[in-house]
Amino acid sequence: MKRSIKVPHRAAAAIAVMEMGVSDYSVIASAVGLTVEEVKRIDMAEDSPIRQLSCEGIPYGEYFTLEKDIRCPKCHALVRFAPCVACYGPTKYQSARQRGYI
Ligand SMILES: [Zn+2]
Repeated sequence: MKRSIKVPHRAAAAIAVMEMGVSDYSVIASAVGLTVEEVKRIDMAEDSPIRQLSCEGIPYGEYFTLEKDIRCPKCHALVRFAPCVACYGPTKYQSARQRGYI
């Protein structure tokens, strides 16, 4: 069962990129097609659905297509989707199982 994401697509994508450990706002901004200011606002998580998503993490099975490839800080692969499937797929699967989502 999939939970729906209530935040705008680009904001969710930015959270997914941050979740991968990318902290450079300009890298995140160009990857998801937002401005640096917008990414900063998302990172501050003033909006409650955004705060909730960044606390809980991107649900298992949700991947966001990026406008530009980014280098995964963990496996150093260039990825077009966030979060990195190779690094986060198995971990997210386990945590989703533990929480009873799948
Ligand atoms: Zn990776």
